[in-house]
Amino acid sequence: MSGSTPTSVLELHGIEKVYGEPPHEVPVLRGIDIVVRPGEFVAIVGASGSGKSTLLNILGCLDRPTRGSYVLVGEDVARLDDQRLSHVRKTKIGFVFQSFHLVSHLTVEENVELPLFYARVPRKVRRARSAAILQRVGLGHRTTHLPNQLSGGECQRTAVARALVTEPSLLLADEPTGNLDSRTSAEIMRLFRELHQSGRTIVMITHDPGVAAVAGRRITLRDGAVAGDDASAAPQEAACSES
Ligand code: ADP
Ligand code: MG
Repeated sequence: MSGSTPTSVLELHGIEKVYGEPPHEVPVLRGIDIVVRPGEFVAIVGASGSGKSTLLNILGCLDRPTRGSYVLVGEDVARLDDQRLSHVRKTKIGFVFQSFHLVSHLTVEENVELPLFYARVPRKVRRARSAAILQRVGLGHRTTHLPNQLSGGECQRTAVARALVTEPSLLLADEPTGNLDSRTSAEIMRLFRELHQSGRTIVMITHDPGVAAVAGRRITLRDGAVAGDDASAAPQEAACSES
C-alpha cells in the first residue's frame, strides 16, 4: 500500500455470492458495484431476503465473495486467507451490532478497551483512549458500570465506543437500532450523524426507512442487486428531530 490517502474507503466491483454447489447453486449477490468515499454515511436497505446480511458479511471481511473484487482502503481483500482477513477486520473495521455483544462481566471501560487489549496496547494507553472515546459518545459518567446497569441506548453507545477505539477506517453497523425503542433509536442515530459530521465513514444496514433517512446516501438492494443508489441525496434532519 502507498502512503497516500485512498480516494475510496471501499470499492466493490462485480461482487457475486453463490451458495451451494452445482447443480444446486443459489445466487444471492448478482454483481454488486459500490464505491464508498471517505466521510460518507451510507445506509443499505432492502426487503428481507434481498441480500443485506450476505453483503454485510463480505463488507465486514467475515466472508469472501464468489466472484468480483473488494478493495478496502487500498488493499484487495477478496482473496485473502482467513488469518489475513481477520487481521484486516480487526484493524480497519469497527462493528456495531443490533444486540450490542457486550461482555456482561466487564465494565463499560473494560468492554471498550477489549480490542486494544487484544492488540497488546499498554494498559495506560488503553485507559486513556477508552476514556476519551467514552466521553465522545456521552458515557463519561458510566465508565465503571456493568452492562446490566445500563439502558439499551447506553449499551449501544458503549458498543459504538468499542467499535471506534481502534480508529478504524470504516464503521460498519448491522441494524444498530433494531433492539431500541423509537426515542432511543433517534438518540443513537443522532450520535451516528455527529460521528459522520466529524468525518467518520459509516455503512449501516437497516430495514427501517426512518433510520435510513438519516444517512446521506441510501443504497437499495433487491434480489441481490443494487436497485437504487441516491448518492446525491442530502441527509434528512427530520428523522432525528424527535426528542
Ligand atoms: P437479508 O439480510 O436481506 O434478509 P440475506 O443475505 O440473509 O438477506 O439472504 C439473501 C438470500 O440468500 C435469501 O434468499 C437467503 O435464503 C439466501 N441465503 C442466505 N444464506 C444462505 C446460505 N448459507 N445458503 C443458501 N442460501 C442462503
Ligand atoms: Mg439479514
